[in-house]
Amino acid sequence: MEYRVAQLEALGRFLDEKKEDILEAIALDMGKPPFEAELSEIFLCKNELHEALNNLSHWVKDQHVDRNLVMQLDSTFIRKDPYGVVLIIAPWNCPISLLLGPLIGAVAAGNCVILKPSEVTKNTERLMAEALPSYLDKDCVALVTAGVQETTRLLENKFDYIFYTGNPSVGRIVMAAAAKHLTPVMLELGGKNPCYVCDTCDVQNVARRVAWGRFFNAGQTCAGPDYVLCSAEMQEKLVPALRKAITDFYGFNPRVSPDFARIVGDTHFQRVQALLRSGRVVIGGQTDEKERYIAPTVLVDLQPSDPVMQEEIFGPILSIITVANMDEAIDFINSRERPLVVYAFSSDDKVVNQVLERTSSGGFCGNDTLMHVMLTSLPFGGIGNSGLGMYHGKFTFDTFTHHRGCLHRNMGREALNTLRYPPYSQQKLGIVRAASEVKRKGACTLL
Ligand code: NAD
Repeated sequence: MEYRVAQLEALGRFLDEKKEDILEAIALDMGKPPFEAELSEIFLCKNELHEALNNLSHWVKDQHVDRNLVMQLDSTFIRKDPYGVVLIIAPWNCPISLLLGPLIGAVAAGNCVILKPSEVTKNTERLMAEALPSYLDKDCVALVTAGVQETTRLLENKFDYIFYTGNPSVGRIVMAAAAKHLTPVMLELGGKNPCYVCDTCDVQNVARRVAWGRFFNAGQTCAGPDYVLCSAEMQEKLVPALRKAITDFYGFNPRVSPDFARIVGDTHFQRVQALLRSGRVVIGGQTDEKERYIAPTVLVDLQPSDPVMQEEIFGPILSIITVANMDEAIDFINSRERPLVVYAFSSDDKVVNQVLERTSSGGFCGNDTLMHVMLTSLPFGGIGNSGLGMYHGKFTFDTFTHHRGCLHRNMGREALNTLRYPPYSQQKLGIVRAASEVKRKGACTLL
């Protein structure tokens, strides 16, 4: 406990003392506004850290569990064992919190960790490689800087657990490498998060909440709303409301706004820019390759087969697809891969609940975007194509913990055990069953 707490406290000092360097490195890598960087990188990590430090003494304790009649005098408990050596591979879009968030849970659970930050965000990677090791015990945490080739080699090693965050195609590569050693994996992947907007809602509030979630970090957020599903009538009202929200947030020229980020690299820029050819641009659409700037953009008149509706956008583009009603929106969502998040907006709670009940996704957020990610009390993770496993708060500790089921029996009272030893008899079986049976609630015990 003391050792783990000391490592976590040291991680907290790293975040405090290197805060300015972190914000600067992230700004250099993708022009992430300091407000967004502080919120999504440092603040989220500090919350996770405090949650772990506040509760670790309870989390690590053996969890005593029910016993049957035969074991009344024995001890039955779940021991919280670390897996051993775990590998954490992180992406570039939140290069600090997606690396250190899992690290907090891994260390809290008692593991040794190999950290592999993204090579795409070069300045942040360098800062982490240079500064972090001096805060943490090198026998416990090692950081490896690696591109695809080196990571491929790294994955040939036998780890006890692999935590991967990134896109689904690399997720498959990681899972295949883990399968060679039967290593358990956690996959935090991406996808297209749908956002249903019902006809009865406060349009301007919806526009603000959707625009914030979509254009935060220039759309490079795995949990951001990827496309809106709404009626043609709602689209008529939503587009001007989105235009107003974008102007309120970033001014008439978002390019000069200090609150709007840039695309992380040239390849990503070209990929996102190409998506602008889908449908019709009704807001934004301007780009500048030198700056890797893509304006907050809204696309309409789209077909489900358009490129922008096929791949995860991961850029500042919001697509709008019109549907006749909620049923059609739900059918649309269910006809595609299960997303990381489903969003639903309506002034009528019944509508929000219907979308929740009739769809499947990693998480759900009604009448807002991204805010569910802020809570350490909610599990965060995907399902199907959007991932495997969950974390945040205690869920991170559990993810990196092997729950070892333990029974510690007494050496004596052997007479009780003879009932299960050969020579067997129907009478012995009856007694063993009666003493250890899990009875169905409400079942009649007289029969
Ligand atoms: P990325 O390119 O930085 O890749 C992620 C990590 O995988 C990096 O560390 C990289 O070095 C490594 N990698 C890349 N190719 C590899 C290969 N062939 N073999 C081994 N390792 C390899 O990031 P990305 O994948 O572009 O990140 C964006 C994706 O991540 C999006 O799909 C996004 O939705 C998803 N994402 C998911 C979450 C989540 O929590 N579910 C969070 C953030 C991002």
